Amino acid sequence: FENLKRIDKEIYDAVKREEDRQEYGLELIASENFVSKAVMEITGSVLTNKYAEGYPDKRYYGGCEYVDVAEKLAIERTKELFKVKYVNVQPHSGSQANMAVYKGLIEVGDTILGMKLDHGGHLTHGKSVNFSGKEYRVASYSVEEESGRINYKEVETLALMHKPKIIIAGASAYSRTIDFKRFREIADEVGAYLMVDMAHIAGLVAAGVHPSPIPYAHVVTTTTHKTLRGPRGGMIMTNDEEIIKKINKAIFPGIQGGPLMHTIAAKAVALKEALTPEYVEYQKQVIINAKVLAEELQKGGLDIVSGGTDNHMMLVDLRKKGITGKKLEEVLGRAHITVNKNGIPYDTESPMVTSGIRIGTPALTTRGMKEEEMREVAQYILEVVNNIDDMEIVEDIGESVRELAKRFPLYK
Ligand code: PLP
Repeated sequence: FENLKRIDKEIYDAVKREEDRQEYGLELIASENFVSKAVMEITGSVLTNKYAEGYPDKRYYGGCEYVDVAEKLAIERTKELFKVKYVNVQPHSGSQANMAVYKGLIEVGDTILGMKLDHGGHLTHGKSVNFSGKEYRVASYSVEEESGRINYKEVETLALMHKPKIIIAGASAYSRTIDFKRFREIADEVGAYLMVDMAHIAGLVAAGVHPSPIPYAHVVTTTTHKTLRGPRGGMIMTNDEEIIKKINKAIFPGIQGGPLMHTIAAKAVALKEALTPEYVEYQKQVIINAKVLAEELQKGGLDIVSGGTDNHMMLVDLRKKGITGKKLEEVLGRAHITVNKNGIPYDTESPMVTSGIRIGTPALTTRGMKEEEMREVAQYILEVVNNIDDMEIVEDIGESVRELAKRFPLYK
């Protein structure tokens, strides 16, 4: 960053400090990951300079022959990886991917049915403060209080009652395998589109360690930066030619202008990495690590929503400990462990306070950590929980955390 250092010392300093935070801390935010150096290089390349409105070979700008190569590769690799016929790799984010599906397939005022935000769904699945909740009528399903799992019977009942045009399956905080086949049956019963938002589990799906929604959904959206381990962005997939035509129009010129060609090229690179045997091993380890971490936390006296995990993440229910998610997020941060506070189903605390934290293993697994390190990480989390008001102990734990991080170098 020599040029940056000369031109903008303030930003340079912030980046350096962030680099250290990532390198010497433990990243347990379930929606984050660390991209490869190759993905990082292309994200900061000359492709950021290029306008390319339109789609490959049909652009509104000249000079697109090389960025076309990148976008075509991103498309072809997505098709191969997810075994799907059509894809749009241009969404700037997961939210824009979801917006494009609604804009492309239904009208303002139509009804959508998604998972409640405070039960694990995403803002774009119909939350009142989000465009999805403002522009569409919304019905929402929950998870059962007892089991912490989706009750498909309730989904069906709500679908029959509200006759949604789109049913959304997929979540930001749900640790159990989702039954896409069952969702499709419900969608067919009421003549709705089934949209699966697989943002969180896309990497697991790519590696075949979570069932794929592609055979069941009319349309699948994803982010590219979570388990998938690519740059920040989104994608939309479908096997239906009519649907992709509508989606393509909804993305451009519907809601986006020039695509981020450096990001699209970075998606292509990440997808190439995802097509390797090492990637499959990585995703298997992500799940093993999550299971071990959940078990160790449970042994240490913490409750996990739904009693465990089938995927890369878990929700820790802190009610029994009398600690809020806000407090634990803060104190873990002082021990260089990064998590996010997260509401648990039927939470009585506000979203800014919460009774839970969300934990995921994609980022630590990218660093090469395995079962043994998960046991160590669980011990550090438990020690922080049990000494929540003793900053001396918390800072000592922080020292051990830094040592562990140093044993698994990231970019340095
Ligand atoms: N969908 C799900 C299930 C998510 O968890 C997220 C991000 O948290 C999104 C969509 C939105 O992605 P983005 O933050 O890129 O807009």
